Amino acid sequence: MEIQDLYQLYQKTYLVDTDTRKIRKGSIFFALKGENFNGNKFASQALEKGASYCVIDEKDFEIAGKTILVEDSLKALQELANYHRKELGIPIVGLTGSNGKTTTKELIHSVLKTQFNTGATLGNLNNHIGVPLTLLSFTKETEIGIVEMGANHQKEIEFLCDIAEPDYGYITNFGKAHLEGFGGVEGVIKGKSELYRYLLKDNKTAFVNPKDDKQVELTEGQQRIFLSSDHLSVVSTHPYLKISYKNTPIQTHLVGEYNLPNILAAISIGEHFGISEENIQKALERYISNNNRSQIVEKNSNKILLDAYNANPSSTLLALENFSKVDASSKVAILGDMFELGVDADSEHQSIVDQGTKLNIDRFIFVGAHYFETNASEKYQSFEDLKSHLIDHPIHDSFILIKGSRGMALERLLDLIN
Ligand code: ATP
Ligand code: MG
Repeated sequence: MEIQDLYQLYQKTYLVDTDTRKIRKGSIFFALKGENFNGNKFASQALEKGASYCVIDEKDFEIAGKTILVEDSLKALQELANYHRKELGIPIVGLTGSNGKTTTKELIHSVLKTQFNTGATLGNLNNHIGVPLTLLSFTKETEIGIVEMGANHQKEIEFLCDIAEPDYGYITNFGKAHLEGFGGVEGVIKGKSELYRYLLKDNKTAFVNPKDDKQVELTEGQQRIFLSSDHLSVVSTHPYLKISYKNTPIQTHLVGEYNLPNILAAISIGEHFGISEENIQKALERYISNNNRSQIVEKNSNKILLDAYNANPSSTLLALENFSKVDASSKVAILGDMFELGVDADSEHQSIVDQGTKLNIDRFIFVGAHYFETNASEKYQSFEDLKSHLIDHPIHDSFILIKGSRGMALERLLDLIN
């Protein structure tokens, strides 16, 4: 089947699904393969649950009139998404970077949707499957799209750009994340800046944070817009960031000064698209993060700053620096292992121990196999070890920062702290 024909089927509902547990009526089911599953096997189930057609790539699972046999279902999904993107012809903002992509995406979305029908990446669907699904979630009513692009190795952002064809791009920052797959910090810079190279090739526009020398240097000579912090200042940081934008105070629900560039990007991109001052203010005030990203949780005797969504050396150090400035009588940082650091894992964990413990924080608790290798004074090899310690020795009357990689799932601590 030609892509145009598949597109016609898609246009009947503008729905595609890849998970039989969440089939929407009339959608096209794409049978993808993973390490432990073969979507082709679920084609008939998808139809039973209401899918109109299934795109499959194994002949054995054909169902007359209902399946579309292609060479590679994933590739078909990506091609359909790109075809749709071209048909839509709307401006698309592509976002990548080491930290803060989702937060920035949500903030930009919050701002733009005050005046435009805006489509954006759902949650964290930012990879070779998520980006196509994001694009295919845009309908003919969508006026602007925001697409988060994640990567943990070279050429991934280039590939995602070829699918999403962004007209604008913003890189939140270059940090120490996914060092393993990228090959060190220089590798991260090279990999993430594939977005800049894509924009340059097509004479599209990069948004650049003027305070980030690397961003400025890498976009030299290409079409760019500098984020302007002229009308933005910090009023207070505790517990939530309060800012002033064009002389109006805005009480955000974001924790940590590291969110300032994220806010700045949302303001500047909003201004570029003509969002009014008042709508920008409302949108920033309204946005509340979820998914364990920098939330404050009040317990009986303790207050918790839960930042357990993920962690890498850059974001951990920033979170600690921010926490060290908070005014509280007893401050405890519970840090879990940072994953995907490859050969740098030992030195990066040791470096967090060394630098962190110099900060104005009363007590550090480290947990995980990597931290266990450091010379930290209070460390636990596994979550279970920490759990039994906390049951025997509960923490009282403290402000507690919790941060660790996703795989550590440190939000499990919430039930153990009162
Ligand atoms: P992922 O790679 O998982 O998609 P992400 O880049 O989308 O992550 P977010 O989910 O927005 O990032 O934020 C994750 C964490 O990164 C936050 O909880 C916070 O600790 C930290 N963070 C957010 N913004 C910044 C920033 N501008 N600079 C450094 N760290 C940040
Ligand atoms: Mg994300």
